[in-house]
Amino acid sequence: MSFVKIENLEKSFQNETVLHHLTLSFNEGEFVTLLGPSGCGKSTLLRAIAGLITPEDGVIQIDGKNVTRLKPKDRQVGMVFQAYALFPNMTVQENIEFGLKMKKLDKETIKQKVARMIELVELTGKEASYPRELSGGQQQRVALARSLVTEPKVLLLDEPLSALDAQIRKNLQKQIRKIQQELNMTTILVTHDQEEAWAVSDYVYILNEGHIVQSGTPSEIYTQPATEFVANFIGNYN
Ligand code: ADP
Ligand code: MG
Repeated sequence: MSFVKIENLEKSFQNETVLHHLTLSFNEGEFVTLLGPSGCGKSTLLRAIAGLITPEDGVIQIDGKNVTRLKPKDRQVGMVFQAYALFPNMTVQENIEFGLKMKKLDKETIKQKVARMIELVELTGKEASYPRELSGGQQQRVALARSLVTEPKVLLLDEPLSALDAQIRKNLQKQIRKIQQELNMTTILVTHDQEEAWAVSDYVYILNEGHIVQSGTPSEIYTQPATEFVANFIGNYN
């Protein structure tokens, strides 16, 4: 059974349809990438899964539960965006703790959970640092830890690495993949960077103008592009 199931999802902005009855699904523990050119609707789809926007039509299920009308906080999803969006006046420790504040946990439990996350994202020793004292890659690792500490069922990543230098991006891709596998975390990544998609994904959906144009494993798509659009999109990159 699919862990995340999206059926017939439709979303328009000012009479312009951005998502055209999309149907797609994700297995538990899978790393799935939504790949496509700028403006094709990737972020809109991710925001609909997170509950930040409301679709006109369609159903979203997470772990067997219909979440289509639930508030973001009731969906058990974690999200990391491109911009770091850390609290500048809070330390690394406080930024990560923040995700747990609403959960009414005792101090010792919070301390243990945060310590485990700091170890997981390899920021030991940086607990007392402020975001401005960290590199871009380190800041994104804090953002990742802040999401993961809440133990979401689904992790949503919207171009989380696109503001970083190529080398840092590659290292962080590997690190995110490793953490995702360690936690068996169902993860949906949005990117326009196909090299990133091939590097980390179990499965890829290619979108264009609000439609799914192809889905498959990276090697299936790479070796057998289904349409001229996909062939050009892949071909233009090389
Ligand atoms: P992507 O993430 O693939 O670059 P988006 O999902 O951000 O694309 O946007 C898809 C389309 O929807 C674009 O044409 C964009 O201008 C439009 N759009 C996205 N969000 C809004 C919004 N809040 N209001 C109006 N139009 C929007
Ligand atoms: Mg986007």
